[in-house]
Amino acid sequence: MWECWMPRFPSGKPSDAWHKTKRWQRLRIRIIARDSAVCQMCGCRTTTGRKNPRAAEVDHIIPHRGDEARFWNVNNLQCLCKVCHSTTKQRQET
Ligand SMILES: [Zn+2]
Repeated sequence: MWECWMPRFPSGKPSDAWHKTKRWQRLRIRIIARDSAVCQMCGCRTTTGRKNPRAAEVDHIIPHRGDEARFWNVNNLQCLCKVCHSTTKQRQET
């Protein structure tokens, strides 16, 4: 699941609900298509399939921290592979 990258946020945050919306599902597909399903960090071609290490993840470039405008801003979204997504987010958490 892609909402698990902000473990320090208290549960019940609004972005949990946003991630479950059809609007997010559509936006996610749009971002992946816009970036040609290419990881914006390592340049690999991402795939579908949750268990694949190159699975596409849609990342917030600037963490939205519950900011609705930032969450939905297409200019703040990028396609990353699962590997890059987990490494960048881990770095921000430390
Ligand atoms: Zn990557």
